[in-house]
Order: sequence, then C-alpha cells, then structure tokens
Amino acid sequence: AYQEQIAIQEPEVDAFLSLDLEAARRRASYQDERRARGERLGRLAGVPVVLKDNLCTINFPTTAASKILDGWVPPYNATVVDRLDEEDAIVLGKTNLDEFAMGSSTENSAFKITRNPHDLDRVPGGSSGGSAAAVASRMALAGLGSDTGGSIRQPAALTGIVGLKPTYGRVSRYGLLAFASSLDQIGPLAASVEDTALVAECIMGHDPRDATSLQEAPPQLLGSLSQGVQGIRIGVVTNLIEAANPEVQAGVEAAIQALARAGAIVEEVALKELAYGLAAYYVVAPAEASSNLARYDGVRYGLREPGVTVEEMMIATRTKGFGPEVKRRIMLGTYALSAGYYDAFYVTAQRVRTFVREAFARAYVSFDLLIAPTSPTTAFRIGERSNDPVEMYRSDVCTIPSNLSGDPAISVPAGVDADGLPIGVQLLGPALSEQVLFRAAFVIE
Ligand code: GLN
Repeated sequence: AYQEQIAIQEPEVDAFLSLDLEAARRRASYQDERRARGERLGRLAGVPVVLKDNLCTINFPTTAASKILDGWVPPYNATVVDRLDEEDAIVLGKTNLDEFAMGSSTENSAFKITRNPHDLDRVPGGSSGGSAAAVASRMALAGLGSDTGGSIRQPAALTGIVGLKPTYGRVSRYGLLAFASSLDQIGPLAASVEDTALVAECIMGHDPRDATSLQEAPPQLLGSLSQGVQGIRIGVVTNLIEAANPEVQAGVEAAIQALARAGAIVEEVALKELAYGLAAYYVVAPAEASSNLARYDGVRYGLREPGVTVEEMMIATRTKGFGPEVKRRIMLGTYALSAGYYDAFYVTAQRVRTFVREAFARAYVSFDLLIAPTSPTTAFRIGERSNDPVEMYRSDVCTIPSNLSGDPAISVPAGVDADGLPIGVQLLGPALSEQVLFRAAFVIE
C-alpha cells in the first residue's frame, strides 16, 4: 500500500533523496516468515518509516543534502537507526533536508525542493521537510528528524502532523551528522500523537556511545496518554502568541480552550526573555557548526576536488561542496569565535542562552507546561523567503528557546487557516516532562 502511495505522491512531493523499496519488501517478507515460525516481532514490526538523510545508515549513502558528502557511505548506523531496526521497523528511504539541517524550508538542499502536500507551491518547512512531507502525504507511517532550532516541530506544524523534540540527551546523537552539538536532538514525526509516542519510546534511552546521553530509562508514553490534564497548570506565552498571525493565534486559542475544558488550569504569562533566544541561537549555532563542519576537508569524506597543494585541494573542495547557506553559517561562526570578537559575540550569546534557560526555569515554578504557536505563520510559498535569510531566521522565534534550554517540546495540529493550510500549536515543558507533554498533546488532538 505504501509503495503504491509513493508511486502516486512522490513525483509531486519529492520528499526522498533515496528510496530502497526492494530492500523494504525483502525485510517485510522476512518478517512474515518469522511470524509464521511463531517468533515474536518488535513493536514496530511492519511499520514503514523514513529517515532524515543526516542520520547514518550502514552501507547506504548519507548525504545531509550536501554535495560535499558525494559518494560517502557510512560504515555504521546511527543508534536511532539500530533501535528502529531492533523493533522491526521497515525503512523505506532517506528524506530531503536543508543542507546539514541549516534552514526552515528544505529549499537549502543541494539536490531538490520538497513540496508541501497540502499545496505544492508551498514549502513543507524545514529542515526535516522531507520526513514531514513523506508522513503528511502518507508515504510512510513515521519519520525521524533532527531539531537544532525547530527542524522537527516547524515542518510538522506546516504539514499538519505531530513532531517531538525530546529533552536534550534523551535520544542518542551517535551517528547524527552534527550541526550544533549542544542543541541537536533527534525525534519522531508521525500523523498522530499515539504514533509519535510509540516511536519516541522506541528511540529514547541511554547510549554509552553519546557522552551527553542521559541515564534515564525511556518514559511510559503510550500507556499514560489518556490520563488527561485535570489540574495541570498551563502557561499561555502571550508574547509568542502575539508574534503569530491572527489565523495561527485562533488555532492556538482553540487548543487552549480544549485543554481548559479537559480541566487544565490555564493562565497567561509573558516571557519576554524567550524572544532574545533567536539572536543568541544565530551566534551559538553557527559557531558550533563552523567547528563541526571543519571535518569536511576533502581528505576524510566524500567529495575531493583536485588542487596542487593540500590547502588548494581543501579550498577547492569546500568551495564546490558547500552551498551558500552553509558557507554563510561557517563565516558567521568563525567570525563570532575569532580572537577579537569572541567576547563580544560568542560569550554574550552564551550569557543570553543562560538568561533564556533561567526564564524557563522561573516559569516552571508556576506552570507544568507552556503553550505557544510552533510557527508564526502557516506554510509560505516556495521562493518567498529564500532571498532574505534574516526573515527566514525570524520564523524560528517560537521553537529556538527550548533548544537553548535543552527542554522538550511537541508540535500538534491545531486546525487550518482560510487557505486550508495546517496550523501547529506547541507544548513546552521542563526537562524530562515528555509524559505530561504527550498527555496534553493527546487532549488537543
Ligand atoms: N531553522 C533553524 C536553522 O536554520 C533550525 C534548523 C534546525 O533545527 N536544524 O538553523
């Protein structure tokens, strides 16, 4: 059924960078044999899933949607890929993204533009736009993405599905091509809160191969979904709601009403500090990226352009291999880290990051959860923001704060606008609050 759906949808949506339906079919029939032998299969047996193409897959190309990884094949699986495998999920292919996950529209891919299945002239969001579009067009049941500043939640919102950024450290980053290591987190995208909870449970948990991995066992998410929100205190973040357009505000308002009807204690709170996160993020994330991307030097991975000296080879390789947004980030990052500007930019941004984290911590004394839009607008037109990077950066204002703090957040569909485009509402909570986040998400859905 999914193969047929891919045949219909993929020519229009362009969600995949690679597909291996042959392998998927083999795996499915092998599962049938195992089942016939009376074997117990994993919790994702037969479930077709897709992987953002910045997750390493053994013996299968992984590109990060960049020309610089041309021809590179990982010698190992990301831990999340192994975990899906242990639960017998069936991987259909690797999905498109903004190059190295830098972007909010998937237009920064070196290979193709992915379209929003709700309106093919619009972006699916990004950077996990391929996984979001694949799930939203029912080409897969679930997908994995990565979220450094909103890249799971924003595409989920713009395509009308559910997306979770887990607590930092809850999902192993081993085998995720690093963008900004102190912010990156892998998480699930799926069409329902229940499906998202199941995949989240399967990929969470300690991994000795990631030094920032938390010891905590995966939470029970599915089992507690229907416990409701009676007595849960929810803060409505007024200044983030004001940043959104009126139709998005109406969607968020409807979600708030649903929570109140279910017995949540809803109260308004202004958290002006969160808005400063945007500026801090666009210093910290490029700084870390400039360091992480230094490894793509033409020696160790993928593309190598000829050059007379090693330095010429490296320059030629990086000039040809990286796209304009990646180069912009590397320049911003190396500038912010350079001797003369380190204190003015990098250190200041880290102070603002602490300021944002403390604002959250204060809010979580009075509230169990916070609610805000995921994105200030619904899906925008392809090309509309691609000439204005700062305008594109601004659209991350609601998602970035929880990456800076490391706290979890989930985006849930909250109706559509006048053009029928999906609206996403975001629930945010303190570290390790995934269980209550999912309970509230289930009420809204
Ligand atoms: N849009 C943000 C950026 O361009 C976030 C990307 C992400 O979460 N990977 O950096």
